[in-house]
Amino acid sequence: MVDISELSIDRSAKPAEPTVKARNQDVYGKLPFSDRQDYADVERGFIATLPDATITDASGRVVWSLKDYDFLKAEQAPDTVNPSLWRQAQLNCSNGLFEVVPGLYQIRGFDLSNMTIIEGDTGVIIVDPLVTAQVAKAGLELYFTHRGRKPVHAVIYTHSHTDHWGGVKGVTSVADVEAGKTSIIAPDGFLEAIANENILPGPAMIRRALYQFGQLLPKGERGQVDAGLGKTTSTGAVTLIPPTDLIKVDHEKRVVDGVEIIFLMAPNSEAPAEFHMFYPRYNVLNMAENACHNFHNLLPFRGAEVRDAKSWSRYIDIALDAFGGKADALIAQHHWPVWGRERVVAYMKVQRDLYKYVHDQTLRLMNFGYTPQEIAEAVEVPDSICCNWHTRGYYGSVRHNVKAIYQRYLGWYDANPANLDPLPPVDAGKKYVEYMGGADAVLARARDDFKQGNYRWVVEALKHVVFADPSNAKARELQADAYEQLSYQAEAATWRNAYQMAALELRNGPPKRLGRNAVAPDALRALSLDTFFDFWAVRVNGAKAVGKRIIMNWHFTDTGQTFVLNLENATLTHRSGKASDDAHASLTLTRKVLETIIVAETTFADAVRAGKIQVTGDVGKLMEIQGLMDTFEPTFAIVEP
Ligand SMILES: [Zn+2]
Repeated sequence: MVDISELSIDRSAKPAEPTVKARNQDVYGKLPFSDRQDYADVERGFIATLPDATITDASGRVVWSLKDYDFLKAEQAPDTVNPSLWRQAQLNCSNGLFEVVPGLYQIRGFDLSNMTIIEGDTGVIIVDPLVTAQVAKAGLELYFTHRGRKPVHAVIYTHSHTDHWGGVKGVTSVADVEAGKTSIIAPDGFLEAIANENILPGPAMIRRALYQFGQLLPKGERGQVDAGLGKTTSTGAVTLIPPTDLIKVDHEKRVVDGVEIIFLMAPNSEAPAEFHMFYPRYNVLNMAENACHNFHNLLPFRGAEVRDAKSWSRYIDIALDAFGGKADALIAQHHWPVWGRERVVAYMKVQRDLYKYVHDQTLRLMNFGYTPQEIAEAVEVPDSICCNWHTRGYYGSVRHNVKAIYQRYLGWYDANPANLDPLPPVDAGKKYVEYMGGADAVLARARDDFKQGNYRWVVEALKHVVFADPSNAKARELQADAYEQLSYQAEAATWRNAYQMAALELRNGPPKRLGRNAVAPDALRALSLDTFFDFWAVRVNGAKAVGKRIIMNWHFTDTGQTFVLNLENATLTHRSGKASDDAHASLTLTRKVLETIIVAETTFADAVRAGKIQVTGDVGKLMEIQGLMDTFEPTFAIVEP
C-alpha cells in the first residue's frame, strides 16, 4: 500500500456533473411521485419520540442520532442524490414509538431495524430488539413512558442477522431468562446460522460491510443519505442471549401471555434461519424482513451465501394464502406498516411477483447462454411491479440481484475460459496500461469519457491504472470523481455507499483501524466449541504450519466435552468426543476460561500460569500452535492493491 498522505490529491467532494443532474431530473418523470401514501403511513399512529432520536450510552457517548440527517427535510432532492433514493431517505427519518393497531406498537428510526412490542394480558412480547442494547433499552423505556411499565415475557428473534437480536440485553437479562421469566423464541438453526454466516468470514465481512452501510462516510447531500433499510446502524453494545425455544415447522403455535402466535417458516430467504408470524388477537401479519418497502438483497455487499429468490417468493405466497385476507395490517422489521386488507393483499402479490419475476427471467436468459453482465442489462421489470414504490431497489437492486441468481445456479464462472484463470488485478493492470499506451494515454481518454458521462467505463479503465500504480495521484483523483458521480445517480443506498466509500478511500486511503470488535463477545460465547475450533483452523497460516505435527487433547470440565485437535499437512482438524493416546499435550480447562481467551481478556500463557488450564505433556505445543495463528485486521485495501 502506498502512503496516500504523501500524494497531492484533490480530496473534496464535487458537485453533480450536468449529465448526472439531467439523469436525476429524468427520474421525476418516470416514477409516481404524486403517490404520497407512504408519507402518511410512515407517521400513522405516532405517539412520541426523543429529541433528534438521540440516544447515549452510560458514559454519555452518542450511540444513535438522526440530527445529522436534518438536511433531508428539503422537499426537492439536490442534484447529488437520486430523487427516488431521496424520497426513501426522507421516509427512513421517521422515528419514535408508533401504534400499529391498539395493543401492538413499533419503535422505528432508533436503529437500522424496527422493534415491535406486542401487549399481552400482563406484560409484553418484544420482537427484534434492534442492533445494540442501549437503543433497545431507550426504545422500551419510551414505550413504558406512554403505555406503563410491565414485564417482558418473551423476546422473539425473527431471524439470525445482528440487527434483529443484538440489543437483547437492553430489554431483558440473562437472569430473567434463566429464571424462566422471559423466553427467547427463534427459528430453528438460529445459532448455527450466526456461526456460519458471520464468524468464519467475520473479519472480511466487517470490512466489506463499510461499503454497504457507509458508516464512515460524512452524512450530507454529497455524502451518506441512507442505508436503504434504514439510516445506518447504532454503535452501542451488541449482545446476545441464546434462544430457549426454537420454532421448527409451519403453523407451529405459541401462546405467550395470552397472545397466540402462529409461525410460518422461511429458511434460506433473507436469512438462513427466519420465520413469519400472524397474531390473531390483533390481525397483524409480521413478514420479518421478507416484504419490506424495497427490493431486498439476494446477495449483500458485505458478502453472504447467496439467497434463494424462488423460495423467498414462495414464502410470501404461503403467508398471503394463509393470512393475507385476515390481516388488518402487515408489519416488517424494517420500514413502516401497510394497513387495510385489500392493500395488504395487493402489496404481498407485488412483492411475491417481484422476486419471482427477476428469478424466472434470469433463468430464462441464462438458459439462452447469456452471462451475468448481459442479463443485468437485459432484465426489465414490468411497470405493474416496478411502479410501486415498495419494489424499488434501495437495498438490493435488479442489476445485482440478477447476478446473485446466476451465482446461485451456476456459480462465479461464466463458462468463457478467458475468464477461467485471468491474471490477478496488479498483473492485469500493468499489462492493460502497457497495451493502452501508458497511464497518461489512459487518463486522457478517461477524461473525455468522464465529460461524456461514461462513469461506469471510467472506473473500469482506471481500475487498471490504479492497480498498476496506486501512487498515480491523477488516476486516483479521476477515478474517485467518477465513483462519486456514479454515487449521485444511484437509486440504491447500498450502491451509493459503495461508490462513495471507493471515492473516499481513493482520496484518503483505507481506514487505519475499526472501532468495533469483529465479533461481539456474546456471540462468541454462544458458539459451539466446534465453531471455535473451525475458526482457529481458519486462522492457521498454512505456510508457517508446513512440517508441523501437533496432537492435543482438550477436556472441558464444565461442559463435559472432549476434543482432539490434530495439526498435520499444515491443516488443523478436530474430532469431538475423542481423546488420543498419542497426544503431545492434554489440556483440562473450562469453557468459561476459553471464552475469556477468545475475547482477549487473557491469553493461553497467562491462563496456564494462573493454573486455570492444567497441561500434561509438552506445554510448548500449546504455544507453538498459537504462534501459527494469524490475527485479522479488517482494514485491508479494496480499491487499490
Ligand atoms: Zn434486518
